[in-house]
Amino acid sequence: MARIVNFNAGPAGLPTEVLERVQAELLDYNGTGLSIMEASHRGGDYDAVHENAQRLLLSLSGAPDDCKVLFLQGGASLQFAMLPMNFLAPDASADYIDTGEWSKKSIKEAKRFGGVNVAASTADANYDHLPALDAIDLDPNASYVHLTTNNTIFGTQFHDYPKTGTVPLVCDMSSDILSRRFDWSDIGMIYGGAQKNLGPSGLTVVMMRESFYERITNDVPTMLSYKTHWEKNSLFNTPPTFAIYILWRVLEWVEGHGGLEGMEARNREKAELLYGFLDEHADYYRGTVTDAAHRSWMNVTFRLPNEDLEKRFVAEGLKAGFCGLKGHRSVGGIRVSMYNAASPDNIRSFLDFARGFMGANRG
Ligand SMILES: *Cc1c(COP(=O)(O)O)cnc(C)c1O
Repeated sequence: MARIVNFNAGPAGLPTEVLERVQAELLDYNGTGLSIMEASHRGGDYDAVHENAQRLLLSLSGAPDDCKVLFLQGGASLQFAMLPMNFLAPDASADYIDTGEWSKKSIKEAKRFGGVNVAASTADANYDHLPALDAIDLDPNASYVHLTTNNTIFGTQFHDYPKTGTVPLVCDMSSDILSRRFDWSDIGMIYGGAQKNLGPSGLTVVMMRESFYERITNDVPTMLSYKTHWEKNSLFNTPPTFAIYILWRVLEWVEGHGGLEGMEARNREKAELLYGFLDEHADYYRGTVTDAAHRSWMNVTFRLPNEDLEKRFVAEGLKAGFCGLKGHRSVGGIRVSMYNAASPDNIRSFLDFARGFMGANRG
C-alpha cells in the first residue's frame, strides 16, 4: 500500500491511524454486527458517538461552558446564508471583514437579509495581506462581526482577532479550526466544513454560545433555523452519522497528540520549516503574502520564477509523492495545504524535493 502526502486544500488528508481504525471497525462496530454507517441515529451506539464527538470538540477547543456543538449539513457555504437568515434583522446591520474569496461569498449572502458594513477589506491588494486590527471600522450597534480566520485561497491567517467588545464575533474557521489555541472571549459562534481539519466532507460543525443563541431575531424555515438543531441536539432529522463518527475518531487522534497545544506546536514547527525555506530561497520561491505576520500556518502560497516551472513543479511533485500542490486559480502558483494531519516529517521530505527541484531547474 502506497499512501502519498496529501497537500489538498479540502477535502484534505486524514491521519492514517484514523483511517486504519475506521477500516478495522467498518463491518462490525463495537460488536454490534453492523457498520456504524448502518446503525440507527436514534440508537444507543450512535448516540454515544454523537455525544463523544460533541464533548471532545468542546473540551479540546477550550470552549466556554455555555457553548453547544451543532452538526449540520450544507457546508460552510450554507452557513454564509444561515447566519444572517437567523441573526440579521432586515433593519439591522452586521460587520464583515473582507479578506478573500470566502469572506466575499459570506458578504454576498448577508446582503440578502439585512445591512452589511464592510468594516475592512484588502480586496484592492488582491488579498495579499490582512487589514490591521486597529484599522477595522467596527459598528458598536452591529448584530455581529464576521471574520474568516484563515484565508484558504490567499494563504493569510489572523493570529489575533479583533476585539469586538459587546458585539459577538462570528468566525468562519473552516480551514484552521483546532489548529492552535485561540481567544474565545468575544466569540459568539464558530463554524466550518469538517473536510479540512476535522474529518470528511458532508458535515458542517457549528459551535454556538448560549449568549449568542439568545440573539436570534428571525423566524425561518425549520431546517434552516438554529433553534431546531439547538433544541433537538442536532437530531431533528438524520445527521451525517458516518462523518460524525469519523470526526470523533479524528478528535481522539488530536487528544492523543497533545490536544490543541500539541496541534499548535506541530503546526508552528511545520510553518517554521516551510516559511524558513521560502525566506532562504526567496530569489526562487517567492511567497505571495506580503506581510510575514499574516502568513497562514495551514495554507502556504508561493510562486516560482515562471508559470512553466510552476506546472513542472506540480507534476514532478506528484511523481515524488506530494499531491494537491496547484494553487487556487485566483492566485496561481503553488499552495501547500498542511492541515493538522500533515506531519513535520511530511514537510521535511517536501523540502528535500523542493531543494532538488530548484537545483535542477535554475533556468
Ligand atoms: C473551504 C472553505 C469554505 C467552503 O466550505 P464548504 O464546506 O465547501 O461550503 C468556506 N470558508 C472557508 C474559509 C473555507 O476554507
